[in-house]
Amino acid sequence: MSVQVFETQEVQNLLKAAANAGGESGDARAKQIVHRLLSDLFKAIDDLDMTPDEIWAGVNYFNKLGQDGEAALLAAGLGLEKYLDIRMDAEDKAAAIAGGTPRTIEGPLFVTGTPVRDGVARIDVDEDEDAGPLVIRGTVTGPDGEPIANAVVECWHANSKGFYSHFDPTGTQSDFNLRGAVRTGADGTYEFRTLMPVGYGCPPHGATQQLLNVLGRHGNRPAHVHFFVIADQHRKLTTQINIEGDPLIWDDFAYATREDLIPHVVDKTGGMELGLKADAYKEIEFNIALTRLVDGKDNQLVNRPRASAAA
Ligand code: FE
Repeated sequence: MSVQVFETQEVQNLLKAAANAGGESGDARAKQIVHRLLSDLFKAIDDLDMTPDEIWAGVNYFNKLGQDGEAALLAAGLGLEKYLDIRMDAEDKAAAIAGGTPRTIEGPLFVTGTPVRDGVARIDVDEDEDAGPLVIRGTVTGPDGEPIANAVVECWHANSKGFYSHFDPTGTQSDFNLRGAVRTGADGTYEFRTLMPVGYGCPPHGATQQLLNVLGRHGNRPAHVHFFVIADQHRKLTTQINIEGDPLIWDDFAYATREDLIPHVVDKTGGMELGLKADAYKEIEFNIALTRLVDGKDNQLVNRPRASAAA
């Protein structure tokens, strides 16, 4: 039997008390957010007539999510991280900020502290016999197309098993394998010498995949490479490229694919001269355009907890 109690004084008082909405102590913003989210949840319980069994299944799910360390993965999988990008894109549009390489989600697998090299970095530390050599190179430019010197391009990606160093459940990768950072010279160019990644799936027994199964969704991403790009007087860019031809490019469980972020993959030879593991290799040219600071500030810099290799 469906009942509606949300609007009652008793429930409204309960919500205010739980968030300490009228109280002097506590953080005003946190109280505002908790009051709103709790209110929306209570209202949904009424509207959908959620049962106690459903509520306790949900509460227990949060325990598993925390135990598995997958809250940020779930945020990507449920489109929350994409939603933040949509909002930042809309803010840019409202502020008439156009151009620049499109942003897309950071995801939860960045590790701070990658060594920075000048111009070119070889980032495949560990052997990976199932992965062929890949060169990713391009030029970092500013809003008027001018090359940016001393920009730092940082990238990270998975190996041929779909695992990232630092987060590899098999424990077989070195620190910073397939992670690197390059500082551009006067011509604004950067180059990574690495190995071709494959897509990855959520841990099959983790909380994220558990929920996706209930929703009838898969938890897989197409092969991709993440980037941070920073330069003085420009806003930090967080983005990714997809590996052209991957069948999941438009079926990414984390919704990170964007039209302008699928550069061509070109077959090349001459890899031995570059120190690659084979003469035949793939090359991706990914040119990166940054946008200017707004009133001297990066108005869309995202601070979030990030892993570090020492932790
Ligand atoms: Fe990724």
